[in-house]
Amino acid sequence: MKYWRTPLDTQEVLVTRGIVHIIEERCKGCGYCIEYCPKDVLVFSTRFNAKGYHPPEVKRPDDCVNCHYCEIICPDFAIYSVEDPSGPAGVGG
Ligand code: SF4
Ligand code: SF4
Repeated sequence: MKYWRTPLDTQEVLVTRGIVHIIEERCKGCGYCIEYCPKDVLVFSTRFNAKGYHPPEVKRPDDCVNCHYCEIICPDFAIYSVEDPSGPAGVGG
């Protein structure tokens, strides 16, 4: 994400990391989570679930910021994120 100005505390903000969990059998392959993830973490997998859809998979695990947006937007409650217990990755994202 680009800011129109740099926040003054950029060097002090610790960015949370998330771990994404996908319940593949619930997924209907709508792609909302992939399309709207602000960090472009997800892609469609090549696997089929029992319904015949391609569920998402995590392409860039280190980029997930645990914003829960995928979780909120999924119509089928098939994806969620939890905070990485190893803690924030560093300052400034
Ligand atoms: S929690 Fe946020 S950053 Fe992580 S995969 Fe979901 S939408 Fe993307
Ligand atoms: S938003 Fe939910 S149902 Fe749609 S592709 Fe993602 S996990 Fe599957």
